Amino acid sequence: LSGTGKKTKSITRLLLEKYYHSRGALSCDEGNFNQSIRHFRKALALDEQAYTRAHLGRAYFEKGDVERALTETAKAIEISPDTAQYYLQRSRMWKEKGEMERAEADHRAAVRIDSRLENLDTLRRTLQIVENAFGEIGQDNARVREEVGDPRLAVILQEMGQEQQERRKAVNGQSCIVPCPAFCCHFSHETLLHGLTVGPWKLQAIRRYLKERGLKEQDLLASIAIGEDKKVLRLFPPDHVLAEKGKHRIYFPKRTRKHIGSRLWKTRPMGRGYSEIPWITGKSRACTFLSKGRCSIHNEGGDPALSSCKEFLCLTGFVFLILHYYGAVDRDQLVNIEMAELNRIAVEASPRIAEIMLGNGNLTATEQELVKTVARIMEADKSGDATRVEEGLGQYRQLRKERDAEQSQKIMFLKADLKNLMTAARRVSRRAGRIQ
Ligand code: SF4
Ligand code: SF4
Repeated sequence: LSGTGKKTKSITRLLLEKYYHSRGALSCDEGNFNQSIRHFRKALALDEQAYTRAHLGRAYFEKGDVERALTETAKAIEISPDTAQYYLQRSRMWKEKGEMERAEADHRAAVRIDSRLENLDTLRRTLQIVENAFGEIGQDNARVREEVGDPRLAVILQEMGQEQQERRKAVNGQSCIVPCPAFCCHFSHETLLHGLTVGPWKLQAIRRYLKERGLKEQDLLASIAIGEDKKVLRLFPPDHVLAEKGKHRIYFPKRTRKHIGSRLWKTRPMGRGYSEIPWITGKSRACTFLSKGRCSIHNEGGDPALSSCKEFLCLTGFVFLILHYYGAVDRDQLVNIEMAELNRIAVEASPRIAEIMLGNGNLTATEQELVKTVARIMEADKSGDATRVEEGLGQYRQLRKERDAEQSQKIMFLKADLKNLMTAARRVSRRAGRIQ
């Protein structure tokens, strides 16, 4: 990084902290614990963060060094005593050591902060099913379609692909419908630490937008010049490193001065795997482009949001978009419900959504049978066996009818459940007298 000012130096430290933390996390995932520990220690030397301490604790634990794992997790708890997951992590470590009373005490401490952690494993399994069904799994089977002989089979494959694409589109790149204070647009550190960089086309559009409104770029956007340091360069998408006056620059939104505050922070949502979103703390400050809970540059340049904002949806935002996709909720119904209640509804609705996707009996069997039938038709089509193709198509149509009926019934149940959850949540919000 270039520049000698105090600010540039502090950004350099934070960038490197992020770099070492990311490398540590990667090495930990790869099972290279010694290397991961070295990276986390380097990150901590630059900036003492609770999430890095906790991650370091996990690396020691995976390595089999329970004592050190406990020490590091205790430090994470000391820095951030309201983070339930750190207690849960320490509880597992006590259990491994055979200290059951201490394990119980930490488990209770975690559940006191967040009662949903009582069944965390089940919750995470459910969320994974929903994530798989609505995440980035849509396969383009266009080439396979071209290769099949029977046009009716090509239509079936197209229908299957479309279903997946529609689900994917329901949540990817969509603007969140939850009326929340946009926790996701608040940051504890410089925004670029969380990948909030501005690509060239969006930058052009933002500049146009600011000019039209007589706003000054330096009030809303910041940039830093980066050198050729590969460590730092690896943190950014290559096309976001812009060459200007012979220097490489990264642009990112500034933050306002106002902190979220600890009261609001207590109602923060979780990530999609029901984990803390580490950059949101009580000291987080809003992105300068946030206006009345919405992104003012979301549609500029015909490109929804900045790429990292576009990709990010917390668990609550994600689940409510899915509920919206099923027609179980619309934006207006959410306005008089407190954020804590919306977070709770999102968690409670997840197993119902998972049930629609995978079911707990008939639907699973029917869904599996459908996939097997299509595979059989494809095989018959390939070997030119017209009778088996005909037979398979008949079975497919029948199974599809059954599957659609089961699915509609489950969606009806979901809507009814959600109506009850929302009514109860509205009641709680009214009683709390803090309707947003
Ligand atoms: S994605 Fe989550 S944090 Fe962001 S606005 Fe939606 S509900 Fe709020
Ligand atoms: S650019 Fe828009 S969506 Fe991204 S953090 Fe800022 S206000 Fe939020």
